[in-house]
Amino acid sequence: MNAEQAVTRCPICGVTFDPEADRRNRPFCSERCRLVDLSRWLRGEYVIPGRPAIDPDTLAELGLDASDLDLTEE
Ligand SMILES: [Zn+2]
Repeated sequence: MNAEQAVTRCPICGVTFDPEADRRNRPFCSERCRLVDLSRWLRGEYVIPGRPAIDPDTLAELGLDASDLDLTEE
């Protein structure tokens, strides 16, 4: 038994596992968690929460205010 054995905690489901046991899915415990992380990451590409779709400075040049328009995606 090796008490110093490295253990990694899966960032998706929080389970601890031996990263040497299945190197393909590191740093995740399984393919399922790896895919969950990937899908979250991809969705983050399309939606930037709380960010106006148009630059506020551009609106100011047009005499508009971002708060007058519903530009944020919830
Ligand atoms: Zn996991």
